[in-house]
Amino acid sequence: MALAYLELREGIIHTCLEMNRLGINQGTSGNVSARTPEGFLITPSGVPYDRMQPEQIVAMDLDGGYWGESLPSSEWRMHQDIYRERAEAQAVVHTHSTYATALSCLRQGIPAFHYMVSVAGGADLRCSSYATFATAELSDAMLAALHQRSACLLANHGMICFGENLAKALWRAGEVEALAKQYFIARQLGEPVILDDAEMQRVLRRFKTYGQQAKATTGAEADAIEAPVRRDAA
Ligand code: 13P
Ligand code: ZN
Repeated sequence: MALAYLELREGIIHTCLEMNRLGINQGTSGNVSARTPEGFLITPSGVPYDRMQPEQIVAMDLDGGYWGESLPSSEWRMHQDIYRERAEAQAVVHTHSTYATALSCLRQGIPAFHYMVSVAGGADLRCSSYATFATAELSDAMLAALHQRSACLLANHGMICFGENLAKALWRAGEVEALAKQYFIARQLGEPVILDDAEMQRVLRRFKTYGQQAKATTGAEADAIEAPVRRDAA
């Protein structure tokens, strides 16, 4: 029988290898999943990414069931609960990236020291309360920290985020690690100035029109990014 969702399985492995290439993962820690009509596909537990084969990616439903020979990631509950609770989530990335993990060990989130904290969907990026890895308690703590956000730190553990596809989830994981590194370095030099809520709300509105090459902005939307005058327009 043909392997179901071959392309998606390959996409998950590609995402894992990209995590290694970007240096945002540590050994066999971390895991990746993608939503399917029946539930989701997730990386197997404890398998090095460079040896992972499409048939080892595990199919799960949203009620703790799985199919096949490979055991799913020990963190399957966190992935399942994101798909259950957050309809917009199509892919999930969990990593122990160095700077995000270092901050999580202080049980500190990332405040609005830089406008890019808006990558998580709000004015800050929270750190969850602590729970043992691979437990339902950890998943509950994660859901609370993800309230109205698409990324959070996991206390004394790492970070987790989701996106509308695998590429977006991977991009978000890289951005969170970059922010954690910048925040860490800024704190070595002194106390960073935190942007206030009004400014962060403006940033969040402005992001709605950022980088949209296909669509020229009219400037009609509040806080839209204004384009310069196009000289060769008809
Ligand atoms: P798995 O290898 O079971 O996915 O676990 C890695 C991990 O990060 C546990 O928190
Ligand atoms: Zn982990």
